[in-house]
Amino acid sequence: MSLAKGCVLCHQGAKMVLFVTGRCHRSCWYCPLSSERKGTDTVYANEVPVDIPSQIIEVAEMMSALGTGVTGGEPLLCLDKVTLYCRMLKEHFGPEHQIHLYTAKAPTDEELGQMKGLVDEIRLHPPRELWDTILDTDYIRSAKRAKEMGFDIGIEVPALPGLELLIPALPYLDFLNINELEWGETNAYAMRERGYDLADELHNAIDGAKAWAEELCRHGKVHWCSSGFKDSVQLRERLKRIAENTARPFDEITDDGTIVYGVLEPLEGRKEAMIQVCGERLEPDSFEERDDHIEMAWWLLEKYAGEFPGNKYVIERYPNRGMVVEMTPL
Ligand code: SF4
Repeated sequence: MSLAKGCVLCHQGAKMVLFVTGRCHRSCWYCPLSSERKGTDTVYANEVPVDIPSQIIEVAEMMSALGTGVTGGEPLLCLDKVTLYCRMLKEHFGPEHQIHLYTAKAPTDEELGQMKGLVDEIRLHPPRELWDTILDTDYIRSAKRAKEMGFDIGIEVPALPGLELLIPALPYLDFLNINELEWGETNAYAMRERGYDLADELHNAIDGAKAWAEELCRHGKVHWCSSGFKDSVQLRERLKRIAENTARPFDEITDDGTIVYGVLEPLEGRKEAMIQVCGERLEPDSFEERDDHIEMAWWLLEKYAGEFPGNKYVIERYPNRGMVVEMTPL
């Protein structure tokens, strides 16, 4: 099976997701965009809202990104912004920083020309209503032109009934990716209307989606990307990379890429005294003073619990002060 270069890096958690716009010229019933992002022009590097372009480089550095996936909305609606960011990334990390771009448009020669040398791989998303006549569409014309111009070219579509209609397109492509259809807050109504249901309570995958892809998946260029894979492997590997770059000496990095540390909220007026005890008992790099509390290695907080009156708990969260996963009182 030939995996797209962008997918190889994604498997390593080494791909930054650059969301350039929530605007889109289409209105696919299965669109997974959240209501927070849909229709807005806010840029996100991974989950971080971007105010100034240099923040994109900071986020990429934080995870030691080896590549970037440009997505939306429809990235070609803001092609100037896309080329600016891609140029910045290539200049900063070098031309080997692999960039793929996802689009639901069939890029024109002019658009391809603007992306040349900046985007390495293009992933076309032809709408479902064109699959029956895919060879007669602009998507195949764009795919041929993109190939001639040196891009890696593929199709990336959600798993929907009728995927086998895309088989005639395969000779014009380097790869074809099928994303497992995912249930979300904005498409739940449309899913129910069509009689679809969740496969299980743990993931957002739709029951039966794998069967729709069966025939197409027999071909060597086709890759099935499950929702479970995205939730687990891809996210976990990316978190690990961020944790390795941002964890403090006393943070424990878990196998899931989260970090664990202890928190002491001293009794009122006792913070300075507690800092002093920390200074006497602990190595300087095994605790940190924060606004109203002290953070330290969780095992030290447990060991010296008796000497630290106040509220004590162990926290597990995504790295770089990300989402809290669990808080356990001590
Ligand atoms: S093309 Fe993509 S972003 Fe646009 S409506 Fe369809 S699924 Fe949503």
